[in-house]
Amino acid sequence: MIAMYCRDHHGAPGQLCAECLALREYAMARLDRCVYGLGKPACKHCPVHCYRKSMRESMRAVMRYAGPRMVWEHPLMAFRHFIDSRRKLPAKPPAK
Ligand SMILES: [Zn+2]
Repeated sequence: MIAMYCRDHHGAPGQLCAECLALREYAMARLDRCVYGLGKPACKHCPVHCYRKSMRESMRAVMRYAGPRMVWEHPLMAFRHFIDSRRKLPAKPPAK
């Protein structure tokens, strides 16, 4: 999704610009540390607001832009995400 946003906004075909690269690295690192692990809910339902504020804003811009377009470019992924976002929040795992 970040790639899609970057391609259309920052015009670097085939690669992410520095800004988007940083955002993706950050997102990956956060995901890694998410208390829910792979069973995690869609981030908008997640009670743990793990993104730093400025990163959250950037990510929201990306999602807002890429979200509707996902349906056309990656219908399967969009569908999974839709299912994901409807799933109930799993019980919070014990703190590690
Ligand atoms: Zn970019």
